[in-house]
Amino acid sequence: MGKNHVKRRDFIKISSAFLAGSAVASSDLPLSFLGTKDAQAQEGDRVVKTFCEMCFWKCGVDAHVKDGKVVKLVGQKENPLSNGKLCPRGAGGLGLLYDPDRLKHPLIRERVNGKMMFRKASWEEAMAVVGDNVKYLAQEYGPGALVSFTHGFGASFLKRVCASCGIITAPSYAQCRGARDDGFKLTYGHSVGSPEMLDIPNTKYHVLIGYHLGENMHNTVVQDFTQGIANGMRVVVVDPRFSTAAGKAEKWLPIKAGTDLALFLGWIHVIIKEELYNKKFVEEYTVGLDELWEGVKDATPAVTYARTGIPVEDIVTVARELGRYGENALVNPGRRSSWYGDDTQRMRAVAILNALLGNYKTPGGMVRYGRYRVPSVKFPKFRHPRVNYRPAYPLASKVATNEVIAHTLSGKPWPVHGWMVYGCNLISTAANQKQTYEALQKLKFMFAIDVLPAEICSYADVVLPECTYLERYDDLFFPSYRTPFVSIRQPVIPPMFDSKPAHEIGKLLAEQMGRYDLFEMDIETYLDTRLKKIGSSLSEIKVKGTITKPEQNLYKQPGEKLKFRTPSGKIELASSRMKKAGFDAVPRYTAHPQAPKGFFRLLFGRTPSHTFARTTNNRLLMELYSENDIWINEQIGKDLGLKSGDYVRLSNQEGKKSTFKVKVRLTQRVRPEVVWMVHGWGHTDPNLRAGYGKGASDTEMLTHTVIDPVMGSVGTQHNFVTFTKEA
Ligand code: SF4
Repeated sequence: MGKNHVKRRDFIKISSAFLAGSAVASSDLPLSFLGTKDAQAQEGDRVVKTFCEMCFWKCGVDAHVKDGKVVKLVGQKENPLSNGKLCPRGAGGLGLLYDPDRLKHPLIRERVNGKMMFRKASWEEAMAVVGDNVKYLAQEYGPGALVSFTHGFGASFLKRVCASCGIITAPSYAQCRGARDDGFKLTYGHSVGSPEMLDIPNTKYHVLIGYHLGENMHNTVVQDFTQGIANGMRVVVVDPRFSTAAGKAEKWLPIKAGTDLALFLGWIHVIIKEELYNKKFVEEYTVGLDELWEGVKDATPAVTYARTGIPVEDIVTVARELGRYGENALVNPGRRSSWYGDDTQRMRAVAILNALLGNYKTPGGMVRYGRYRVPSVKFPKFRHPRVNYRPAYPLASKVATNEVIAHTLSGKPWPVHGWMVYGCNLISTAANQKQTYEALQKLKFMFAIDVLPAEICSYADVVLPECTYLERYDDLFFPSYRTPFVSIRQPVIPPMFDSKPAHEIGKLLAEQMGRYDLFEMDIETYLDTRLKKIGSSLSEIKVKGTITKPEQNLYKQPGEKLKFRTPSGKIELASSRMKKAGFDAVPRYTAHPQAPKGFFRLLFGRTPSHTFARTTNNRLLMELYSENDIWINEQIGKDLGLKSGDYVRLSNQEGKKSTFKVKVRLTQRVRPEVVWMVHGWGHTDPNLRAGYGKGASDTEMLTHTVIDPVMGSVGTQHNFVTFTKEA
């Protein structure tokens, strides 16, 4: 056991108790300079090409630098994801770079006068504590006793080390798009990818379901949508809330929340019954049509109306228009799909609808992108059976975060006593906070790597400050996309304070574990070695920012035979893998519980100027949107004696109260039985000085979850709230 082993995790959350000067001193930060309009207007004396990380979309950025300071971020013209434009969050990246609340030095938990506090530490000291504890956990409890939660591109370096320790999980799987991806895999043999392989600019008839395109501001998707509308695309939006996208639609179908699957089955019913499907495509490329009909034959428009509240005429009209536009129509799979716990089946129904239209590799439909493959550099790997753990849910393609949290609590199938948390604030991302707190309480050791003092940091034994994306190299980025490309992230300015990039932190961690072989190459040699394999070099891409390949043909060619990586080799309308695992081969509708009297179903989403809790301390972006509000149906609000601008506390069906108050917005844009708010607000850590106490946290209210038995998606939309008016 090393001298730094944390002998007893005298667990306590550390909130504002930073030792003086340890983390939040701000005198050396140019707050007045912080991306002011004047600063944003400046041209730099040099421009550095990199890519954004204000969300995970990774648009190309031209960063203007003047007198050693970053003064402006603009969209890189050569980069296919930005096309010369950034969304508001991307342009507001200076608010993160120059955030006075940034973590500035490593911190170590320490008891001072009987009180737990953090003290400033050197990297050497902090890494020694991390190293000793990681080794101790491995010796005492075997491989896998430390698990890793990651979010962010720098994780690729940390994974090199963590793959030797234990399970690696990312909240984005079970909390976001995992059910969508797995639902499509079960049907088509592949997911729709990210960026999604959808030909939106050429779609003629586009149905969006609870997908907040435009508020969910993925730069290129918004550009595609705008292009589609300019090309005459017709849009239908299904949502209990009149979203920004609904404002662009010819039809808004305000569906009763929780009944989306019923609507899809109703549409499938009409499309099959009226033979509106693409017969040639369905015959040649799908299996299970008869079984599908058996499953939907009772989902008549009248039954569907009774379930969803959508008039029969609208149900039938949209189904017929889908059939009429056929392979140029699209039922958009959306993105976050962790809604009700039957999410894989709901997403299978969306996949089936698209298959019936025959819109595979067609203009306006689902397409396939290739990528600019950059061969990797091989590093030695250590694999232990525990590390090769198979997810607990039978058809999951990844390990769900909630599964790992539950694993930590139960100690089964083996004991977990340590967490590494990189760039994901589990307190505000993971539903069922109680479970997260209990798991944290049980840990013997936890270390966090972050840019800001996110809430999760206050539960750590050691906090390691990462520099922002504007101060570091990361790995090369070459996603599947319609224009294949590879782009570089490089330091625009050197790391500020005593922060480090993830590749250096990974190297230090590997050294602590005696794994010097994992980081034998420095980062520049590593990137240059990879790029030389495609005939480029680090020096070339540093200047160009993005290297593209010619556009590929996205559509099915004459005589081309399609193949699908499913057990049958075809699109499975009835899924053989689902059947084999004991689930319904064809999606079936089950009604979800409705709100108790006096309560309203809590739905949440996004605003264009923020990326969840990641940006809700960004002073620049808070100029655009400074606190969330709760949307309440106007008539309901009036009946409750509320008016817009009032503040209320939320209280859910289990009596859980919101820590902070939230502003009321009365609107006709939500159905009476639901309320809606933007996710990621109501920071509870006072070290996040701009975001602390601003708005309320939706996550606090998500105490009841229903887990999808197919792949572990966390259904969060089973929570209901009521209000207490603040004086
Ligand atoms: Fe940055 Fe916006 Fe692109 Fe996301 S969509 S990477 S925040 S510019």
